[in-house]
Amino acid sequence: MSDINVASCAQAPVLKERGQREVFCGLTSIIWLHRKMQDAFFLVVGSRTCAHLLQSAAGVMIFAEPRFGTAILEETDLAGLADAHQELDREVDRLLSRRPDIRQLFLVGSCPSEVIKLDLSTAAERLTKKYAPAVRVLNFTGSGIETTFTQGEDECLTAMVPTLNESPDRQLLVVGALPDVVEDQMRSLLDALGIGPVRVLPASGADQIVSVGPNTYFAMTQPFLGETHSALLRRGAEHIPAPFPFGAEGTTAWLKAIVDKFGVSADLFEQVVAAPRARAEKAIAQASETLCNKSVFFFPDSQLEIPLARFLTVECGMIALEVGTPFLHRPLVGPDLELMTEGPVISEGQDVDRQLDRALERRADLTVCGLGLANPLEAEGLTTKWAIELVFTPVHFYEQAGDLAGLFSRPLRRRAILRQEAAE
Ligand code: SF4
Repeated sequence: MSDINVASCAQAPVLKERGQREVFCGLTSIIWLHRKMQDAFFLVVGSRTCAHLLQSAAGVMIFAEPRFGTAILEETDLAGLADAHQELDREVDRLLSRRPDIRQLFLVGSCPSEVIKLDLSTAAERLTKKYAPAVRVLNFTGSGIETTFTQGEDECLTAMVPTLNESPDRQLLVVGALPDVVEDQMRSLLDALGIGPVRVLPASGADQIVSVGPNTYFAMTQPFLGETHSALLRRGAEHIPAPFPFGAEGTTAWLKAIVDKFGVSADLFEQVVAAPRARAEKAIAQASETLCNKSVFFFPDSQLEIPLARFLTVECGMIALEVGTPFLHRPLVGPDLELMTEGPVISEGQDVDRQLDRALERRADLTVCGLGLANPLEAEGLTTKWAIELVFTPVHFYEQAGDLAGLFSRPLRRRAILRQEAAE
């Protein structure tokens, strides 16, 4: 029986910090979005730096033509000496005549396009008129001035919401880009529970109907989609608040919130989830042998921090010292905060020097942080986990629960082996 006197993190004060931050920009989201949306092209309007970031983050594509690229703003554009809109139109003409497979084109803003105040929404409207109905042109920003790296997806999906068809149907909309294999697992669970129709945003192709309306219930699979959440509420849809589907308990709670809305019987629910939940619990228990009673410190990075801290503390027995997040969207992460016992510092935003001081003073067994901070912290003797790996690895739902726990236990095991070898 749970102790009702124990306060949860939902009531805990939040340490708000505003200072220098160490995160990738929103362009990074293009790496997983272009894999998900098979007929979309992401045209970054930016500098050579933006092109380099995309190239190095995505690796070199050998077998397929890439579905992202950069329209480089030259010095004449930046100095206002050339008409950047005309050049952009020429670039889009060239691209679309060469690539008839493109059905959705995203013009993606960057720091340079923000600085020269290039109006990409007007450009998107103009180009949509020109290329409709074959191609839909939308715009969003991935600028590092305005976004952290997962916010690129939030900006992209927010741009799509006004274009969704209106539907009066009672339906479930699942929001957030998931790897195809994970999406298939989710769909088969919802199908077995008799829930449908199920729509997913983003869909893999423009021909798949994604609709929204007053009888649409939506569930989020990613905690960094705060603006998308607001945009869907504006379209009249109703959010189903729930812990995020990480681990056995998180996935069960997420599904339970949905079945309660759709009136599924408790018997059918138990029948469908019993076996995969048991598999997930077993897999987590194995990895938890390494994680139990170890401490963890999260730097703010992907916005997955709060749901992951819930998973690590509640399901793996870890002790969270600080859980930092770039933004704290209570309507999204509130249910995860409710499940965590008060104790860790919950911080929002970043002042990286002050946070580094706290991390070095607390010396957690495991520190989850961005790539730029990992090496300096390792040099100080701390064990680190790259936060970005958690976004690129399939980690949602029952079948990935063991892998998710394994992502955190591996660095601890590696450190233990190194220590042992050094002692011998
Ligand atoms: S958008 Fe800004 S932060 Fe991102 S790569 Fe381009 S210049 Fe750098």
